[in-house]
Amino acid sequence: MLDKIRVVLVNTSHPGNIGGTARAMKNMGLSRLVLVDPMDFPSGEARARASGADDILDAAVVVPTLEDALAGCSLVLGTSARDRRIPWPLLDPRECATTSLEHIQQGGEVALVFGREYAGLTNEELQRCQFHVHIPANPEFSSLNLATAVQVLVYEVRMAWLAVQGQPTKQEKVESTAMLNSVPVTSDELERFYAHLESTLVDIQFLDPQKPRHLMSRLRRLYGRSGVSKLEMNILRGILTETQKAARGELSKRSDEDV
Ligand code: SAH
Repeated sequence: MLDKIRVVLVNTSHPGNIGGTARAMKNMGLSRLVLVDPMDFPSGEARARASGADDILDAAVVVPTLEDALAGCSLVLGTSARDRRIPWPLLDPRECATTSLEHIQQGGEVALVFGREYAGLTNEELQRCQFHVHIPANPEFSSLNLATAVQVLVYEVRMAWLAVQGQPTKQEKVESTAMLNSVPVTSDELERFYAHLESTLVDIQFLDPQKPRHLMSRLRRLYGRSGVSKLEMNILRGILTETQKAARGELSKRSDEDV
């Protein structure tokens, strides 16, 4: 899932921030770094600050424009240190993380876009994003270091990802419940049940084969309506078998565990 998230840095001036971003990403299990027209890359300083996250730097994709960086993304989230006074849907980092993972679960890809150290993202760039993300820092001092802002967002992504680990998807939940209890019976199983039911009702003289009336069709309607599962069918068939034995006077001794 985390491979569906790319971190996009726009026009970064300090290579140390690129290295710090790579380190933060690797720490949190993200791997896709895209650099839009970086001022100084590749760089020894980036490598030094990456502290071993060299694989992220080596795999970083360098592109000339933000548009290139966003190719294939269906959800774009742009970060901003300031309130730009553009009325735009605004998320905090936690909401950003859950929104991103929900989007990935639906089959999409996500870009988290970060701006220049000296000027952030332009209004035009921010308007390419469906959501803006603001870290609710001290309003008197709200601008974080670029790599630190990346760290905050990717940490929240990791927390949201950990929370959905091991949780079955909606589809898997339906399937596992079905496995336990609600696999519906097939029509031929239902037909065998009706035959068994009919012979049992004859055995206990509830049904007169000479004058059956509409009993069996009414019972078909009843059982057909109730959506019997395989498990429930086994119980019904067991009841019929024991009823027939009782009618013949050969009731078997059952322990409680059998029921
Ligand atoms: N001087 C710039 C700040 C740029 S900080 C300005 O006033 O906009 C560099 C980048 O770090 C920002 O573009 C943004 O991507 C990220 N960043 C820093 N502080 C942030 C915050 N509080 N919320 C969200 N992103 C932040």
